[in-house]
Amino acid sequence: MSEQQTPIVWERHLSANPTPDAERERILENPAFGANFTDHQIVVVWEKDKGWHSASVEPYGPILMDPSAAVLHYGQEIFEGIKAYRHQDGSIWTFRPTANAARLQKSAHRMALPELPTEIFVDSLRELIAVDGAWVPEPVNEKTLYIRPFEIAAENFLGVRAAQRAEYRVIASPVGPYFTGGIKPVSIWIALESARAGRHGTGEAKTGGNYAASLLAQMEGYDNGCSQVMFLDAESATYIEELGGMNLFFVFKDGHVATPSLDGTILRGITRDSVITLIKDRGIEVQERKVTLDEVRAGVNSGEIVEIFACGTAAVITPIGQLKSREETIGSADAEPGELTVSLRRELTGIQYGTVEDRHNWMVKLS
Ligand SMILES: *Cc1c(COP(=O)(O)O)cnc(C)c1O
Repeated sequence: MSEQQTPIVWERHLSANPTPDAERERILENPAFGANFTDHQIVVVWEKDKGWHSASVEPYGPILMDPSAAVLHYGQEIFEGIKAYRHQDGSIWTFRPTANAARLQKSAHRMALPELPTEIFVDSLRELIAVDGAWVPEPVNEKTLYIRPFEIAAENFLGVRAAQRAEYRVIASPVGPYFTGGIKPVSIWIALESARAGRHGTGEAKTGGNYAASLLAQMEGYDNGCSQVMFLDAESATYIEELGGMNLFFVFKDGHVATPSLDGTILRGITRDSVITLIKDRGIEVQERKVTLDEVRAGVNSGEIVEIFACGTAAVITPIGQLKSREETIGSADAEPGELTVSLRRELTGIQYGTVEDRHNWMVKLS
């Protein structure tokens, strides 16, 4: 749980040379994922004896850091991914921010970092949008402002223990579709020789090290024409867990849907949770259970499994055409996106862009 915190006062130190309007408009025309950043960043400092303090909006720029800063040596780092959506009337919204705040707290707990109170998390998004709202693209071609809150161990000390000074920061980047191919089914590489998370490890925490652990397999996947990697359980390489940054769903011919159960090694995706709710709303059964690679191979080959999709904030919902490893290919690269996949994607993005009724009160207005 978050610790007791006196209300925080925000200071704004605005950039003396923000991006010229014309340059920003040019970037917003066709933003690449995570390549351009807005004019400001959020900084909130935590110290063991003071708690969270010094909350401010600062010009976007490098972090001045001592080479002995703990994060550089022991990887004490956590992050979140959340988007800001512009609606037709010009207002700016975000999706389930208190769920991201709660997950950041859980990640902090696991990585021995201080837990940022939910209120500061939500306020930090409002503060950033208050100064950089012009960076939220018009609602066309799935453009959004991708927001990256993160927390780092910022104590200058090489001893191995939880840092006594930490920084929470937020940066933001206008983005277009995550996969440049549009909603065309992607190919996924099955990691047979590397795992991202083990029992009682850090798989449930959104921490940089999990991503570092996934990159070797991802490079192998790229070399084999795949755009993401699927990880199996580390112990037996039998059960499907998730992709490097997305959760997985399997749609069966008889109508039910299955997704790997959260057993401590899988990231608790907020998109995953929302998709489960949307599927159940339709009266469709969702089974959260163990799913084996053997079951998926047999199901795709027999036609029992009719759709596979991945989901996460960055890529929303992405159809999967085939699963590949050095040993086999399951499914087909030119499969059409499945019916449920496409319709869930339309519903979820509709809720986010304010064109479909928000039955679950997921959207929070930022500006
Ligand atoms: C962030 C992330 C997801 C997706 O989570 P969302 O909350 O839906 O964005 C899935 N898997 C991993 C490993 C992640 O880091």
